[in-house]
Formats: sequence, structure tokens, C-alpha cells
Amino acid sequence: MRYLSTRGGPAVSIEKAIMGGTARDGGLYVPEALPAFNASDFPDPDDFPDVATRLLEPFFAGSSLAAHLRAVCRSALNFPVPLRQLETAPGFLAVLELFHGPTAAFKDVGARFLAHCMEQIIRDGVFATAPVTVLVATSGDTGGAVAAAYHRRPGTRVVVLFPEGRVSPRQQHQLTCWGDNVVSLAVRGEFDDCQRVVKEAFADSALSARHRLCSANSINVGRLLPQAAYYARASLGHWRTTGRPLSFIVPTGNLGNAFACVWARRLGMPVGRIVLATNANTTVPDYLATGQWLPRPSIPTLASAMDVGNPSNMERLRSLCGDVETLRQEVTAVPVSDAEIRSTIIDEYHRHGLPWCPHTATGLRVYRELPEAECVLDDWAVVATAHAAKFDTIVEPLLDIRVDPPAELTALLQRPAQFETIPADLGALAARL
Ligand SMILES: *Cc1c(COP(=O)(O)O)cnc(C)c1O
Repeated sequence: MRYLSTRGGPAVSIEKAIMGGTARDGGLYVPEALPAFNASDFPDPDDFPDVATRLLEPFFAGSSLAAHLRAVCRSALNFPVPLRQLETAPGFLAVLELFHGPTAAFKDVGARFLAHCMEQIIRDGVFATAPVTVLVATSGDTGGAVAAAYHRRPGTRVVVLFPEGRVSPRQQHQLTCWGDNVVSLAVRGEFDDCQRVVKEAFADSALSARHRLCSANSINVGRLLPQAAYYARASLGHWRTTGRPLSFIVPTGNLGNAFACVWARRLGMPVGRIVLATNANTTVPDYLATGQWLPRPSIPTLASAMDVGNPSNMERLRSLCGDVETLRQEVTAVPVSDAEIRSTIIDEYHRHGLPWCPHTATGLRVYRELPEAECVLDDWAVVATAHAAKFDTIVEPLLDIRVDPPAELTALLQRPAQFETIPADLGALAARL
């Protein structure tokens, strides 16, 4: 399998797409073709690493990673991604819990898979020579997941940029508690500034070559591919037990998670409808409504990991779907306000006794807004993107309870933290590299 740039540049290998992050022409890598699967190609839908291996095999065909894919999936995807059923009437509602990894957000899936692939590529000496610098901009959860996935991994150094004062205290701790080969930088600005500085660093070919810069953002195809696997696992499992496809509501920021869901359906997985839930950053719902793509600065919201005004992966979605008319057949999008996030966290806690994070709450809100006929017609899963304990400062006062972090998160919170603060410009980052 070869990988093409969304802007038409030459085809490259998966190793190069993974180590390069973005294409030289500024585009994003996409596979030149999508393989087609049937549900019967997956004998055990409950075995997440096995589903991932089978689904991803064609994407690694002919590469140095092909022989390692099963081992990579087994060691990187070593935590559960359960579908928790909440309701059966009036319609089927489940939550796809993606927060059982080391940093309690779905970003662990892509980050760990990518780190294992990169380490293998470096070890095989196929494409890259050590040490490489993994540069990552984060709106909160990516940085922690990437730092955790690469911490003390030989041949790599990680530099994490996060927006000062825009991440939750526990998220910030996860971004800054590493040391060793991980450098954490608070940027005076918002997530979009972090992302811009990172893009500028990659565009500076001298700088990029000097530090052998690699990207671990969701623009890296090596992060997106394994995300398709949890949609495959969940929808195949549901199909196996009910014979019905599963529709997904995906809390959306930079559009990586939602894009992976679209891929899963295109690969032949029994995925029904795909609805994107956004916060007050409405670039995507506005685009679907008006046909005009108007990226803008992000607005801070309670669902801060979704505070993205210019979602990078729209370029991939557009290259897959073409015009806005086709895109409208593929996905719909619904914005959710902070007030609705708050009331949803409270309502859902009273309904089922479960605390959900503000991002997951956007998805649940969108479900509650569906006309009852649509709840009955399709079976729905809301994607739970992070554990509520990561956003304790928001969730606990609303519910007047304590939300205990899972064990792995507790261990991280006990490590000492350290970071430096830089202005939002390339010069400052280059000096720190
Ligand atoms: C990153 C993130 C999102 C948004 O996902 P995208 O792939 O950027 O659309 C939603 N919720 C949480 C908790 C996240 O960390």
C-alpha cells in the first residue's frame, strides 16, 4: 500500500508517511486505496488487537512493519475499549468507552500504536536514524498520551506544546510529569497557535532536518489507522449479537476520531449513521449547513479538547468525499453549548448514576436531541472520549460527588511536574529545540 498527499504530491511508503507526518507539499497522507472487508473476515470481534491486526494488514502490506503488525497491535492496544450498554428502550443506546488506557482518553490508542510503529521503524533502520524529535501540539489529551507512549522509548525525544491556562489541571499534570526524553512547553496562546507553530516548524526544512522532526498529531496517518479499529470492533460486536449496524455520535474537535469512523464504514464495517457533536466551535456544522469553509480562531469551552476552529482533518474528509453535498450524505454535525454540557452531565448522572466528561456530554446531548423515531430506527453508540476524572474541576462541582481517577492516572498525578513557557512563535520553539 502506498500513501498519497491530499494535495497531489508523490506516493510514499507507510514508513515515510509515519515518520514524515505531513507530506512535503503540506498535504496530509491518505492511503491510495481503501480495502473492502466483510464482517465474516473477523472471527473474534471481542479481541481488539486481533480486529486491529486484520483491519490494518492491507495498510501495511509490503512494508517493513507488516511482519511486526500483530505484535505492535498486541502490545500497543493492550487495554479494553468496551461498549457499555445504557438503554434498550425506546432505542438502543451504548457508550463506547475509549478511556481505559494509561492517560484515560482515546488518544492513548493512536499514540501508543504510533510510538510502537516508530520504534520499530527506527530499530529496523529502514527509514529514520535515531534520535528523532517527536513534535506535538495538544489541546490537552494528545500531549499526555504521546508523552506516556514515548516516555523512555529509545531513539526518540518528545516536545509537547500546550496552550497555557487552557487545559484542565489534571491534563496539565499529565503533560508535564515526565522528564527524561520528554520536554513540555506551555505556549502563550491557544491550541490553534500551538498547531500553527508546529506546522511552521515542519515547513522549515532546515530545522526539520536538523532535529529529524516527526509529528504525532492526529495529522499522522499512523494515529488515525488504529482508531478505525475500535469502530470496527464495536460495530462488529454489535452486528454479531443483534444483526444490526451501529450508528455513532462522535465528540469532535480536530476531526481525527470522526474521520476514523468514516473510514471504518468505508472499509465495510457495519457502521450506520455518523453524527459529529461539536462544542461552540462550529466551523464544521456551519460548513455542512452553508457549504462555506470558514476556519476561525477557537473559542474556549468546557469541552476544551474540542476547542478547534480550524480542524486539520477536514482536508482528509474533503479528499475522501469531494464536495460538500457528498459530505452531507456521510456525516451530520450538531453544536452543543457550555450550558447544555453542564445540564447533560447532571441529567445523565441522575439517569444512570455515571459521571461523564464534558466531551462525552456533547455526544450524549446530541443523542437526547434526536427525534424519538431516529432513536428507534437506529442503534446508537456515543463515543466516550475521556474519563470524567480528568475534568474533575468541571464535573465534581456539578454533581457534588468525588470522581476518583483510575489507578494509572492516580500514579501519574503523583509524579512531580515541570514545564517551561514560551511565546507562540517559531523562533522561540526553535531556540528550545
Ligand atoms: C482530542 C479529543 C477530542 C476531539 O477528537 P478529535 O479527533 O480531535 O476530533 C474529544 N474529546 C477528547 C477527550 C479529546 O481528547
